Amino acid sequence: MVTHQTIGERDTVLTPEDLAALRENLYEQRLFRQEQLRQFAVHSSNRADDRRRTDAAQIEVGVKLAASARMVLADVEAALARMDSGQYGTCHLCRRAVERHRLLIVPQARYCGRCQQVREAGR
Ligand SMILES: [Zn+2]
Repeated sequence: MVTHQTIGERDTVLTPEDLAALRENLYEQRLFRQEQLRQFAVHSSNRADDRRRTDAAQIEVGVKLAASARMVLADVEAALARMDSGQYGTCHLCRRAVERHRLLIVPQARYCGRCQQVREAGR
């Protein structure tokens, strides 16, 4: 039987299937970022002697990549914590539900589309 789901006026209702898929996605992202950070760590500790000779620009790129990997990892872990506490999918600014289609693209999104736009415009 096909569950007939009314696509709500507000596109905010997450089904248990959505949540399971989103959690799966977050786990994968977490693994991927953890692996990425492990590689950075190995890379920088194993070659202490070479480091002097490594192009400074290259180091800078590595540092930036590691920093962004850490940021994404923190976002992903925060999203998983929100799932566990039942607060997942609520905008951190306006406390309204984050749009479902948005979460399906960016599962770790903290803000609804409107608040995100406001934040980006304010930068
Ligand atoms: Zn909002």
